[in-house]
Amino acid sequence: MHVVETVAEARAAVRQAVRPLGLVPTMGYLHEGHLSLVRRAREESATLAATIFVNPTQFGPTEDYATYPRNLERDLGLLREAGVDLVFAPTVEEMYPPGYDTYVTIGSVAERLEGAARPGHFRGVATVVAKLFNLLQPDRAYFGQKDAQQVVVIRKLVADLNLTVEVVALPIVREPDGLALSSRNVYLSPPERQAALVLWHSLQTVEARFRAGERDAEQLRGAMRAVLAAEPLAEVDYVSVADAATLDELSRVDRPTLVSLAVRIGRTRLIDNFVLGVEG
Ligand code: AMP
Repeated sequence: MHVVETVAEARAAVRQAVRPLGLVPTMGYLHEGHLSLVRRAREESATLAATIFVNPTQFGPTEDYATYPRNLERDLGLLREAGVDLVFAPTVEEMYPPGYDTYVTIGSVAERLEGAARPGHFRGVATVVAKLFNLLQPDRAYFGQKDAQQVVVIRKLVADLNLTVEVVALPIVREPDGLALSSRNVYLSPPERQAALVLWHSLQTVEARFRAGERDAEQLRGAMRAVLAAEPLAEVDYVSVADAATLDELSRVDRPTLVSLAVRIGRTRLIDNFVLGVEG
């Protein structure tokens, strides 16, 4: 496994890479969710690249950039074991040298949900992903449905900028009790870890109501809010029942629908989602 930190080294490695080249971008502190992407990408790629970069431009000024968990040595061990060929783990200065001043801004699909709750988040995501795509020239790039809106935003980036990379989205990996794996789960105290199950329970409630025939989106949002309200440690940021392609809020569930939510458990902000009629 070739580990590089600079743009110049990454370019040199990519020039020699046998195609197809698969890319798994991450912020590190890897878990089974990341590794599920790596394993699928390994099967489909002659050369497999992963990136580890905690991207400062996608964090708001009051968010957890400084404390975001990091463990490069452990991550490199996991990636080596999974058969990754190339790891790009740049410094912030390498990605954003002094005077850096170009950003990619995506329209309506990036403005709601996470975009509304975290202003500038998707500008940072789209910018870093555009840079990684340009630099590493992947044939395919792998993302988790855990960050469902991110997948929509990146597909829009690829379509609108005529990029040639194929975006592959893979299912959410969960703990046995339903909690979606996240690097941020390490922030949770034992009682918060227990309380965090309320995200999954609220999604399961929506699914049950949907299966029982409920198609009124506001009823489904209300059912989620009721489950969340019963958990004293949970503070709801948003609940959403939206068109899975446009992310427009729905009044009736009559098309592929993204049910998503963001909830604070203590000081940890967690997100989760479910696509009605497709998953689970
Ligand atoms: P991150 O390191 O949080 O930026 O995540 C890197 C990639 O892993 C993103 O495409 C995430 O959507 C994906 N990912 C994170 N958690 C999970 C999970 N529980 N299941 C599947 N994919 C995930």
